Amino acid sequence: MNYQAILQEAGIPALARVEGGIETRTPIDGSALGQLPANNPAAVEARIQASLSAFQTWRSVPAPLRGELLRRFAERVRQDKQALGRLISLEAGKILSEGLGEVQEVIDICDFAVGLSRQLYGLTIASERPGHHLLERWHPLGPVGVITAFNFPMAVWTWNAALALVCGDTVLWKPSEKTMLCALALHRRLEEVIAGFPAAPAAISQLLIGRRPVGEQLTDHPAVALVSATGSTAMGRALGPRVAARFGRTLLELGGNNAAIVGPTADVHLSLRAIVFAAVGTAGQRCTSLRRLFVHRSLLGALSPMLRKAYASLPIGSPLEAGTLVGPLIDGAAFEHMQSALGAARQAGATVVGGERVQPPGLGGGFYVRPALVEADQPIAVMSEETFAPILYVVPYDSFEGAVAMQNDVRQGLSSAIFTNDMREAEAFLSATGSDCGIANVNTGPSGAEIGGAFGGEKETGGGRESGSDSWKTYMRRQTQTVNYSRQMPLAQGVQFPVD
Ligand code: NAD
Repeated sequence: MNYQAILQEAGIPALARVEGGIETRTPIDGSALGQLPANNPAAVEARIQASLSAFQTWRSVPAPLRGELLRRFAERVRQDKQALGRLISLEAGKILSEGLGEVQEVIDICDFAVGLSRQLYGLTIASERPGHHLLERWHPLGPVGVITAFNFPMAVWTWNAALALVCGDTVLWKPSEKTMLCALALHRRLEEVIAGFPAAPAAISQLLIGRRPVGEQLTDHPAVALVSATGSTAMGRALGPRVAARFGRTLLELGGNNAAIVGPTADVHLSLRAIVFAAVGTAGQRCTSLRRLFVHRSLLGALSPMLRKAYASLPIGSPLEAGTLVGPLIDGAAFEHMQSALGAARQAGATVVGGERVQPPGLGGGFYVRPALVEADQPIAVMSEETFAPILYVVPYDSFEGAVAMQNDVRQGLSSAIFTNDMREAEAFLSATGSDCGIANVNTGPSGAEIGGAFGGEKETGGGRESGSDSWKTYMRRQTQTVNYSRQMPLAQGVQFPVD
């Protein structure tokens, strides 16, 4: 299938060249897919004002009716799952199975939001005063700015938007400048659904095209009640204090540096399958990708050759081709970062296996690599950084406590896993003294979260939680209410204040 056919099938019109437009390229072979004009500051301001005005209406629409909008959107996406999945492969470089999986995640979170639309529960609380009623209610928050990264070009926005819309908020989406077409295609489908939904003003969800300055305008604008930003820790470090300075709210989903521990009782074959998917899936470009592997010394002799063998035979090539497991890196800069990390590992005395550029026939402009294994006797400095590429550092350990300490000894805290059949070890890993990450798994890898759980990480990963569980509370404001239905006027804590 040629690229134009994929774009057409996804509903992307032929894109004209625009003066000063932002170009988007496919990582498959580096060729240009088209250009989109960036929104200038006046256009962004107009959209923020439109969002604020749509919020005045949307917040009063009953939540279950808001849920109905999401139900229709999910139906629309179901119909076009193949086309959208292929577009993700084309623009983000994920293998088709993962592209389709991402679209499924869009559908799943919408389904979740539909159910949630009847479950935005508050509390009733026992009042200390007679004839009084104390309760907690959740109200819509306002316009929500959603800034997303290139590597989940559809799912991460939907994690935010589906919940925000059901909660009665309006949404302003600034996607990554590297995956604008995915955003355009998905958002158009929502726009169509909104157009056929009389209760929804058109501006409840809007797309903003642009680079960092557009993100900064959302960051600084007092009307944007919540800025939910997904991307690098550097981005979060710049954005977080600016939103805090105006007392806005943030939901930060930043870089990870995820680890797994393979304990002495682990099922080695199961571990191998999980490790390889977690480390090389999406060409190592997931925030939850496995980057550091701590293997009990007694298993290293068995696991290392299995890993080397599996890595040597990974099918690398076009993500649209059946059978490919490793697609391209997003661009040349990602390739340079990977090479520089591998150089630092070699300098630190580690053994590097793989990591070289691979050139599938006809795809010379793409940056394909053989995923790298880096074997070291102990942690090396470069392991403490997130390199957004398929590099797996493998380090032996002797004691469980030592392995957990090495795992936790990084600034990031997103995802983690242990492979073990020792119940005590598994429980210790999940306990307060075990993994310090937002996600901790047993006998399954750190990557590939389900939408039902709250997603996010600690430390420099930003502390945000989105998607399932009670993450919806971030998109609402909590109000504590006291109602006096008596004829008396008692004060709390027994305070007396007689007024005739
Ligand atoms: P990036 O930080 O380069 O860009 C992310 C988004 O932020 C883009 O839309 C970009 O235009 C915008 N942006 C950048 N600087 C900004 C600023 N100062 N103010 C406002 N907006 C700004 O990230 P990327 O390269 O697209 O994605 C890879 C990174 O994202 C990795 O670090 C990965 O771990 C992280 N990520 C984290 C999660 C998570 O849930 N924790 C999920 C996906 C990706």
